[in-house]
Amino acid sequence: MEQVAARLAEVDGRIADAARAASRDPSEITRIVVTKFHPVSLIEQLHALGVRDVGENRQQELSAKHEQLDLPDLRWHFVGQAQRNKARAIRQAASVVHSVDRDRLADALDAVGGAPLDVLLQVNLTAEAHRGGVAPDEAARLAAHVAGCATLRLRGVMAVAPLGEDPRPAFERLARSAEIVRAEVPEATLISAGMSADFADAIACGATHLRIGSAITGPRPERG
Ligand SMILES: *Cc1c(COP(=O)(O)O)cnc(C)c1O
Repeated sequence: MEQVAARLAEVDGRIADAARAASRDPSEITRIVVTKFHPVSLIEQLHALGVRDVGENRQQELSAKHEQLDLPDLRWHFVGQAQRNKARAIRQAASVVHSVDRDRLADALDAVGGAPLDVLLQVNLTAEAHRGGVAPDEAARLAAHVAGCATLRLRGVMAVAPLGEDPRPAFERLARSAEIVRAEVPEATLISAGMSADFADAIACGATHLRIGSAITGPRPERG
């Protein structure tokens, strides 16, 4: 508990420093703690420390943890690759889905129906077509499609910086995609970017939502 508290405080301090260095107000930045592979007891500890946003990247794990915990003020962010046949389960557990990257996934989430669901478009910042995310030159078209889904609220964009590349230019490309999406849907103001190794760069490039795992949780247990 003490270690987690210390790491959380340390990361929050670095977030505040990076925000100030970028002349941004730290209060406009949401820090999501990615808890994948960690037990629900860690989420309870984090909640006791004031964390209200957690992220998971696998639907089964998201659903199981959401089921086990009764923390009504906790927001669950789904940040992983989503399968259409899991749309209902994802929608039952997640407050925000960061990884909408194709029409058919948006349609599957929309078809479940219910209270409006906040979604982000995942943008592929690599040159490889088969990585998760929509190609940047397809983002405006997908944004228009999602805007037409009655029960989805398009809130912005998300991306993972490519491995082995300076994250800064990648996050700058994401900021341009965010502008293009915002031109289509003015409420789509969120930028989900930045992980343990690169969140300061993401803040400099306008990220509003950071997805930070190991820098706060410690190393992840072996995946089961
Ligand atoms: C695991 C994960 C993170 C957090 O990664 P860390 O390097 O542990 O901070 C962020 N985003 C996504 C999509 C992830 O899968």
